[in-house]
Amino acid sequence: MPRPDFPRTLSEFQARFATEDDCRGYLVASRWPDGYQCPRCGHTEAYELTTRRLLQCSSCRHQTSVTSCTVMHRTRVPLHLWFWAAYLVTTHTPGFSALQLQRQLGLNRYETAWTMLQKLRRAMVRPERDRIAGTGTTLASGIPPGSGGSHPPSRNAPGTQTGRAGSRAGPWLDASAGSGTLHGVVG
Ligand SMILES: [Zn+2]
Repeated sequence: MPRPDFPRTLSEFQARFATEDDCRGYLVASRWPDGYQCPRCGHTEAYELTTRRLLQCSSCRHQTSVTSCTVMHRTRVPLHLWFWAAYLVTTHTPGFSALQLQRQLGLNRYETAWTMLQKLRRAMVRPERDRIAGTGTTLASGIPPGSGGSHPPSRNAPGTQTGRAGSRAGPWLDASAGSGTLHGVVG
């Protein structure tokens, strides 16, 4: 089964990611495009502990966080705000600022927006960003390397087209972009 696409337009985005459930479902579908499989025992059924963003294996009860291995891991920012941030960052010019992100998302703290932006950018510029750790899943990306970097490439350089979110689950889903630095920052 193909991985889910990431929306390209505002209306599509709004329709698909209206709720936390929508976002969580998207994460699950991205991580297990062929259906859930328990990392411990291989069982293919689990139930959701939605309040904690966990899937619990219905056989061995192993719990897997739906945000582990993503930039959203351990965040207290609502998932739909992360999704908005990813959409904004991937569809805007490289100069998209933390202040703009803060205003667009209505975040109370500039530091929160700044941290989110840094994580998203780091996830996007990583060369080996097309894997989700542990699953071997490739997340093909429509985002060229460097498009979210701290040094905006020249406007005419190849591969710097903006305005296109990843046609598949974007690299912003990828892990590794820092570890737990949101802890205590976001509230
Ligand atoms: Zn299991």
